[in-house]
Amino acid sequence: TRPSPFLDPGSITAADNLAIILLSRDNLQPITLEESNGAVDGYAEGTMLNTRFGSFPHSTLLNIPWGSQVRASAVDTGSRGRKRRREATDDDTPTTGPDDETSKPAKKAVQAASGFIHILRPTPELWTSSLPHRTQVVYTPDYSYILQRIRAIPGTHLIEAGSGSGSFTHASARAVYNGYPQSDTDVRGKVFSFEFHETRFNKMHEEIERHRLNGIVQLAHRDVYNGGFLSEGKSPGASAVFLDLPAPWEALPHLSRQKPKKASKQNGNVENGEWISPLDPKKSVHICTFSPCIEQVTRTIEEMRELGWTDIEMVEIAHRRFNAIRERVGANLPAEKGNLQTPADVAEALERLKQINRKTKEFHRAQAALTANGDADTSEMDVDTPPPTSDKGKANGKEPMSEEESKPWMHGRLYHRAEAELKTHTSYLVFATLPREWTDEDEAAASANWPCGK
Ligand code: SAM
Repeated sequence: TRPSPFLDPGSITAADNLAIILLSRDNLQPITLEESNGAVDGYAEGTMLNTRFGSFPHSTLLNIPWGSQVRASAVDTGSRGRKRRREATDDDTPTTGPDDETSKPAKKAVQAASGFIHILRPTPELWTSSLPHRTQVVYTPDYSYILQRIRAIPGTHLIEAGSGSGSFTHASARAVYNGYPQSDTDVRGKVFSFEFHETRFNKMHEEIERHRLNGIVQLAHRDVYNGGFLSEGKSPGASAVFLDLPAPWEALPHLSRQKPKKASKQNGNVENGEWISPLDPKKSVHICTFSPCIEQVTRTIEEMRELGWTDIEMVEIAHRRFNAIRERVGANLPAEKGNLQTPADVAEALERLKQINRKTKEFHRAQAALTANGDADTSEMDVDTPPPTSDKGKANGKEPMSEEESKPWMHGRLYHRAEAELKTHTSYLVFATLPREWTDEDEAAASANWPCGK
């Protein structure tokens, strides 16, 4: 079987793979690419992606490099197309024009020429921005920080509850991935994900299969407050844990090295009457709990203290995006060092562009003349460099352009601006560590080797 498109998508798109369609800057649509032989759904071209930017037969999206721009095709959409475009998800994008049933080739051609999309390889980040929401999800600024704090690296066994919409699941699967297991005894990085809501569990199951993440993500339908964290009756041997649950303190007693003291919690993690810890006994365990309210945080921390967790710390991610842009300043303002005065209006901008074009042409003409006379070595000619300032290099005797003049994108003052009105609070992140198990045998072995071997 082929690897997951999230882990190893190859260099080109392929049938039966997930792809993320970039419709506009903030409008992404996940699709599964399909190869079709013959008409599908009434379309002679086969499976069709209908958007407000036009129609795209899947055949035009297959076997092309990831990141390609694809133009809309001239497709006889008729009334089907009109209905579908109304149903299409990209509601905030402009329509490509009227489409009535009398539209004949000329109209179709206009529609085809009007739109394009980009096809992107799936990543957990793009999936988070485009996935169908069934719950609140964990976003990239939070999960990138969480994954490094709980030390999710290739080979890690990670417990996650609840799975929800699978946003964190996809990011953690990529973090722990170190190859697909080749047999039942082949131990690789794995995410053990638990969800008690049946419909969400079923949906997640479907997605994990479709994204070919089975083998890396092991899903269980379970209420972890009561059932604990065993996977098919065995210990996941986890060293990293992420809890996105309404009451993490209810789940914590099951994330211990010994059978919980509370009688109400003693039925979890039990297989054939035996209590089994879901944690790796030879490693420290790093946990993160994700809670929107401070009251949840205090209850979680109280429970962590009772259960022997150490290094307890709460963090809140206040993610801000800064846009770096150049400001167009008016022509009457004095030019600053390193910046050109920028045009005040369209007429002036056009005049400036004409001037730049004229100077560029003059430069190239002068270079060509020098080459024809055998005066210049063209083998390494750099067309970005302004003309030389010697008399010989002067283009038609005129002064050459300065570097700033020749690069219009360098005009204006560079500054940055933070995104306004940003809601930064997502949740409070509580981190803690449970030290590794230390048995009498470990102590004896350590003593025998003390101070540094015999
Ligand atoms: N982290 C997920 C993501 O990034 O998409 C979102 C998790 S969502 C906020 C919380 C999930 O926990 C819900 O789907 C809910 O059904 C599940 N849940 C709540 N209590 C649970 C329990 N006792 N056992 C298992 N899952 C539970």
